[in-house]
Amino acid sequence: MKVGIVGCAGRMGRMLISEILVNEGVTLIGGTEHSESAFVGHDIAKLAGFDETGIIVGSDTDALFSVSDVVIDFTLPQATISHTQGAVKYGTALVVGTTGLNKEEQAAVVKASKSVAVIQAANFSIGVNLLLTLTSQAASVLENDYDIEIYEMHHRHKVDAPSGTALALGEAAAKARGVDLVSVSERIRDGNTGTRSPGNIGFATLRGGDVVGDHSLIFAADGERLELTHKASSRRVFARGAIRSAKWCEHKAPGLYSMRDVLGL
Ligand code: NAD
Repeated sequence: MKVGIVGCAGRMGRMLISEILVNEGVTLIGGTEHSESAFVGHDIAKLAGFDETGIIVGSDTDALFSVSDVVIDFTLPQATISHTQGAVKYGTALVVGTTGLNKEEQAAVVKASKSVAVIQAANFSIGVNLLLTLTSQAASVLENDYDIEIYEMHHRHKVDAPSGTALALGEAAAKARGVDLVSVSERIRDGNTGTRSPGNIGFATLRGGDVVGDHSLIFAADGERLELTHKASSRRVFARGAIRSAKWCEHKAPGLYSMRDVLGL
């Protein structure tokens, strides 16, 4: 299976290169960066510390999609939109890991999934996808007298908040309770906030250092607290999940799939 990587010089891009180069059943066919990137023209394998392969980092999205069976995207929301167009134009499956998409950007992903297989996950780690399932179970058993609070911590370079994973956990909890996350979420608390409303789902965001990704949910009632926590200590888990998704989507019908579909959860 021929795999292309857009944003191949980024933190996740480099991790994907190093995993694909040692993974059986997938072949690295190429990678792109934005046209101003200093890495355009470099050997792709060297970005991940491997010997030269002769595959050169390009900036021509069309050229990459035209030769790939699947393209993996961990970039920026604006770039992801243009990558959905490349996927549709060339009938190439797309794995989307980019987070922080607004409504219009997400609509572009959904539109592309009418024509090609798109696997999208806010978090490609197996542990977090299991945590999503556990969250749904807990939230459906523990009713509104259990206040749900979600907190996450990431490295200082992360640009969106709360993380896509924290929001996905909130969505899973809200869906299990039959409510709309937007109407129950409390994302900012500052000053005289008044008391907590029952049924709301609170979010707290921490940023600092090189933290790869910590997520916790607390179900807090009078007399007891249930806490569910996941800590990622290497980006490798996301890269492996994305590659597993890329393999899974071969010959899949057009549609929008999640990592939970890939894992059969
Ligand atoms: P990063 O900034 O290190 O890498 C992004 C790369 O995309 C950069 O190299 C940038 O130059 C490149 N890029 C930007 N525009 C481009 C374009 N038009 N064409 C090609 N390349 C382009 O960021 P990162 O830490 O690798 O994270 C990237 C995204 O992935 C973020 O949204 C992050 O939240 C998300 N992420 C998701 C998961 C997951 O499991 N879903 C895990 C980690 C990170």
